Amino acid sequence: MMDEKFDFIREDTKALKDAGLFITLRTIDSPPGAWMAVDGKRVLNLCTNNYLGLADDARLVQAAHDALDRFGVGPTAVRSIAGTLSLHAELERRVAEFKGVEDALYVQSGFCANQAAIPPLVGKDDVIFSDRLNHASIIDGCRLSGAKIIVYEHADSANPRDPDDLEVKVKENLSGYRRGMVITDGVFSMDGDVAPLDRIYAVAERYGLMTMVDDAHGEGVLGRGGRGIVDHFGLHGRFDVEIGTFSKAFGVIGGVVAGKRVVVDYLRQKARPFLFSNAVTAADTAACLAAVKVLAESTELVERLWENTRYFKDEMKRLGFDTGHSETPITPVMLGEAPLAQEFSRRLFEAGVFAMAIGFPTVPKGMARIRVMVSAMLGRKDLDYGLEKFAEVGKALGVI
Ligand SMILES: *Cc1c(COP(=O)(O)O)cnc(C)c1O
Repeated sequence: MMDEKFDFIREDTKALKDAGLFITLRTIDSPPGAWMAVDGKRVLNLCTNNYLGLADDARLVQAAHDALDRFGVGPTAVRSIAGTLSLHAELERRVAEFKGVEDALYVQSGFCANQAAIPPLVGKDDVIFSDRLNHASIIDGCRLSGAKIIVYEHADSANPRDPDDLEVKVKENLSGYRRGMVITDGVFSMDGDVAPLDRIYAVAERYGLMTMVDDAHGEGVLGRGGRGIVDHFGLHGRFDVEIGTFSKAFGVIGGVVAGKRVVVDYLRQKARPFLFSNAVTAADTAACLAAVKVLAESTELVERLWENTRYFKDEMKRLGFDTGHSETPITPVMLGEAPLAQEFSRRLFEAGVFAMAIGFPTVPKGMARIRVMVSAMLGRKDLDYGLEKFAEVGKALGVI
């Protein structure tokens, strides 16, 4: 018998399918290398966040093995009770040094890092100014805090007027609240454009706002040797809080809240994911440490990433694709309606290229796309293979 209570789920699922927005999971049977085994098929990997190829780097894998032998599998405690391993403390020191900040707090994920960092700093008497295109984990962190959230129009460093709407909104609203904070993605994960961090800082300074940037797609990518967006803009010691993740360019798992010691230390007392959810495992932590060491020692991988990025984007534009206004390895291939993006992705997959379609609610309606993630793992032949298949499918579907 059909359970009528759940009619709403059946209706909503049908609506998702009709709109081309239903998610089907693909399963992976290999490391996220240049080529991967996906649903039993060998395909070119143009869609993971393994920017630098560190996810199966021998140095990281060895570090994880060693830590498993020394510490076992699970920490079985939250950090604040009995879960802080020497590895956690060392990683926090090393990542703070790498990013050029006073202190860092290691948490379970980038998603958790936003939940850890925002609610202790603002509450119901306060206001958060948040970019319209901020990541879902920032939005959820803001909501959890109970502060008033005022969304300002998206600020892109390529637009010299930005962040004009931020300043308008601050001027109009700040005086009604106890304190304020501005929060932005560093690199916007669906468009690949970069926040005008220097100009956002100038506004924040003028009005005495706390500043937070989520650098998930900037670490390992932007700045000297991948030191991130604050380094890219030369704003060391200015931004109060940098949120980060070890799950993208660093190739592992875990999140970080980095920045001023007064803030980070306070979070050790207050951040709920830190206080109420178990610490990251020793193996993962050791792999993160190895990743930071690799990046601190050499800029080679980051340079290769940018070389590949320039080549791929130039060629895609030459083929006639609209790749939006990305300034980073994130390369959106704009297609408009979600069903077209899904069909495009399906045909690419048949042709041996793994690049996922992204639609609402991850991006606005009518702005569906294939999001290509360029990485340092790809050789010239791999990139050419991908370009050739994009051209074939693009012509077959009348996109170019
Ligand atoms: C990916 C991402 C996160 C989430 O990081 P996880 O470590 O995967 O939880 C948070 N913020 C931004 C901007 C991201 O792009």
